[in-house]
Amino acid sequence: ATPTALMVGTGRGAQLGILIKGPEVLESTRRVDTVVLDKTGTVTAGQMRLHGAVTAPGVDEEELLRLAGALEHASEHPIARAIADGAAERVGDLPVPADFRSEPGLGVQGMVDGHAVLVGREKLLGAWAIELPEDLAAAKAAAESEGRTAVAVAWDGEARGVLLVADAIKETSAEAVAQLRALGLTPMLLTGDNRLVAESVAREVGIDEVIAEVLPQDKVDVVKRLQGEGRTVAMVGDGVNDAAALATADLGLAMGTGTDAAIESGDLTLVRGDLRVAADAIRLARRTLGTIK
Ligand code: ADP
Ligand code: MG
Repeated sequence: ATPTALMVGTGRGAQLGILIKGPEVLESTRRVDTVVLDKTGTVTAGQMRLHGAVTAPGVDEEELLRLAGALEHASEHPIARAIADGAAERVGDLPVPADFRSEPGLGVQGMVDGHAVLVGREKLLGAWAIELPEDLAAAKAAAESEGRTAVAVAWDGEARGVLLVADAIKETSAEAVAQLRALGLTPMLLTGDNRLVAESVAREVGIDEVIAEVLPQDKVDVVKRLQGEGRTVAMVGDGVNDAAALATADLGLAMGTGTDAAIESGDLTLVRGDLRVAADAIRLARRTLGTIK
């Protein structure tokens, strides 16, 4: 395409709410055949809320909320914010943790009121040889099959309860997926979250292929593996966790509502955080470069 056509395409992008890093980006946009969508904050709103708690026998629910909320108050993860806010609403002021550590894609750990507390995935508890008792595991599975994220809480070497957190799917996500399909692209859902939760979200928006329980540092490898299969991959994400995958993908699309790290790593920014604009971007690139679909 001529420089003029590229400039017009870039300008048209801005009108549609697409910020394009450079003219060469349109060429990779045109060739994309697979679109990998991050779940939290991309397909879903990323505004999690605490919906409930299930306690192990003998555990006080307020104590569960206080200890878990205190630890999550120190984390910036959307799940952490939901738990800290929900806990503060119920129990008031939260204690300040000591020795706080965040384990990306797994959860958080630290000392609260003299207790060694863990909050996160079952895998995080597993690293400390802590198992979820049957009743908590059942509550967790039931919540996950409905698309809620169940966060395990343990202290002093024992599982104490499960917190249920849910995130609304964006109203525009299903339509966006349908549009991507209509353009001949294969959509896939990629997440660090549990498989049952991921499959429930995928079903609701019309995605068949789900890659779940992926650690943040492994998202890049998923993109590389798909590229190794001969695919030209677009990755759409919002989080700090997505930055490396966005940079590795043939085309990185960052949600404008997401983190600075994601926006810096992307080739395109979807200003309004509306996933339908990803389809607009592909259409624009094809049109600008004069390809007939
Ligand atoms: P996604 O890929 O959907 O954006 P992440 O990779 O950030 O999700 O997190 C994956 C999973 O790890 C979450 O679904 C949650 O179960 C767990 N997790 C991560 N951080 C935290 C935290 N601060 N508190 C509780 N759970 C967490
Ligand atoms: Mg995310």
